[in-house]
Amino acid sequence: MPSKIAPLHLRELVQRLPGAVALFAEPLSAHTSFSVGGPCDLMLILSQMYELQEALSYCHEHSLPWFVLGRGSNLLVSDRGVRMVAIKLAGQFSDYHIDEKGCVLAGAAVPLAALARACAQAGWKGLEFCAGIPGSLGGGAIMNAGAYEGQMADVVKRVELVEPPHASVWREAKDLAFAYRKSNLQYAPTVVTRVEMALTRGDPVTLVARIDELERKRWQKQPLELPSAGSFFKRPPGHYAAALIEKAGLKGVRIGGAQVSPLHAGFIVNADHAKAADILALMHHVQSEVHEKFGILLEPEVRILPEQPHA
Ligand SMILES: Cc1cc2nc3c(=O)[nH]c(=O)nc-3n(C[C@H](O)[C@H](O)[C@H](O)COP(=O)(O)OP(=O)(O)OC[C@H]3O[C@@H](n4cnc5c(N)ncnc54)[C@H](O)[C@@H]3O)c2cc1C
Repeated sequence: MPSKIAPLHLRELVQRLPGAVALFAEPLSAHTSFSVGGPCDLMLILSQMYELQEALSYCHEHSLPWFVLGRGSNLLVSDRGVRMVAIKLAGQFSDYHIDEKGCVLAGAAVPLAALARACAQAGWKGLEFCAGIPGSLGGGAIMNAGAYEGQMADVVKRVELVEPPHASVWREAKDLAFAYRKSNLQYAPTVVTRVEMALTRGDPVTLVARIDELERKRWQKQPLELPSAGSFFKRPPGHYAAALIEKAGLKGVRIGGAQVSPLHAGFIVNADHAKAADILALMHHVQSEVHEKFGILLEPEVRILPEQPHA
């Protein structure tokens, strides 16, 4: 498939970022928890704020399409890939600090589950719900990730963003329109670089035990041995997606290598070398069966790239 981004632009962009890791035609299947997805034109792994600002202003100046890749645990990328620059944060974006009042300042690339455990071990309560969520803090903030009665909106005070062509700005939580698995950052051309959170005092032993318990529950109830993106669909108001899918008789149904998990009907899993096309076909099948039987349209929670209108 021909590249939409001129190779000259890609080379010039890379030359401006001597400290960055640059991977041309990098397969996104290696970076998504579904283990599917074709190549992006260029993946930039950036460790410093000035590199990010330089990369974004070049993309802005030359109208190059880009997106942020967190830990790829909520992404379904087309088999043909995307004609875009994928920006991945590392280095300074993986640092975090907890002060003596429970104010956590952490880079967007910090893994959510590791941060939750570190905070619990230090006696800070509030992030235990992140146990077993395989995303990054940046992805978690954008998606308002949540589980077991908790969500990012409960702890986030403010986020630092880079919005080309501007330099970084802090935005308060009240301005992020957090709702169920939603924030107003989701479709904005913006990069979350740091997140500030407010936690409260707790007993480290109790907090760590809670995290262990939530992880155990996940291993019992979720098909974690197979590639997936977690719950595929959002919870429709007043219902549970998994219950509707199960009632529609779809548990275990397969298309190609994609399957509605026989363990948890809310998960679509890559059961056997699935293509993104198999997963998308299964998504459409589930949507249409559930709609026909219950009149409810299931909306994907998973972000699909390239973006397409919902069915
Ligand atoms: C086994 C499993 C269990 C899961 N359980 C849960 C759960 O209990 N609750 C839950 O909410 N989710 C769950 N998820 C989904 C996923 O882990 C979360 O949505 C997570 O927050 C996504 O983070 P990520 O870094 O992987 O983002 P990605 O998948 O890489 O990206 C998701 C979206 O966020 C954007 N993005 C990522 N980082 C940034 C950034 N720094 N700045 C701007 N945009 C960014 C991307 O462009 C994309 O649009 C699960 C997934 C799996 C595989």
